[in-house]
Amino acid sequence: MPELPETETTISQLKKKVLKRTLIDVWTDSRNLIKKPRDYQKFKKEIKGQQIQKIWRRGKNILFDLSGQKTLLIHQKLTGHLLIGNWKRENARPFRPVKQGDWGNWKPLRTGPLREKINTYIHLMFWLSGGLMLALSDLRKFAKIELWDKKELENSKEFNSLGPEPLDKNFTFEKFYEILKRKEKGKTKQVLTDQTVIAGIGNIYSDEILWQAKIHPFKDISKLNQGELKKIFQAIKEILSRAIELGGESISDYRTLTGERGGFDKARKVYRKEGEECSRCGTIIERIKISGRSAHFCPQCQK
Ligand SMILES: [Zn+2]
Repeated sequence: MPELPETETTISQLKKKVLKRTLIDVWTDSRNLIKKPRDYQKFKKEIKGQQIQKIWRRGKNILFDLSGQKTLLIHQKLTGHLLIGNWKRENARPFRPVKQGDWGNWKPLRTGPLREKINTYIHLMFWLSGGLMLALSDLRKFAKIELWDKKELENSKEFNSLGPEPLDKNFTFEKFYEILKRKEKGKTKQVLTDQTVIAGIGNIYSDEILWQAKIHPFKDISKLNQGELKKIFQAIKEILSRAIELGGESISDYRTLTGERGGFDKARKVYRKEGEECSRCGTIIERIKISGRSAHFCPQCQK
């Protein structure tokens, strides 16, 4: 699932290519992607003619502030990612499974990364002013699209329950410590990926953060001393910033807005590296699963 660095990568590209453009029309073959309003015709009517005035991120949510006091929220969820380009509708049949070298219903006009299989599961398309298109490729169709009244979103429970932004300069160690004191129950990995504690960290980056901080992912967070928590805090800032610089990861289905792979894969130390040697101590990296959650870690350096 795209986490903070992937969402941020998509957003910085969106700002360059999509800002100030107007949403002209929308198409989908999967109306269930649109959770709000449930009435697709209403959704379509309300977004048509709206100008994109601001693009921002909160946690893993991509937010488009529109001219009519509305905010379009897109959460890419498990396998979704936004793409920019130009496509031609190949046929009007319902979506069919894509074979290698095939492009489903939508054919990218140009050759290149948009024709990579992972980018061809297009279930949502926006036409923008200036002849550009914004697509959602989503193999499993778990993404969430919602159109909110701006004020309603700002005051919504789901939005306000999100924890602080880890890269915000106001997110200091003192703040982190204070939050953990309130929510100190649970395994360290589980707490780090709890969106109400900190927004934007998921499976991949929690493993990487804990490897760097040398903390065992299933250690009870209440058993960690201040020094250990400080190491985690520093690793959060460093790993997420580095991942943004590298354009996110592409071990999962994530691709950047232009359909290309992010560069974090080569900087990755433990996530999905079970059976390989730890780059710090040479011990074999393990993958363990506790109550449905798995973690990758080095049993030697992470105690
Ligand atoms: Zn190690």
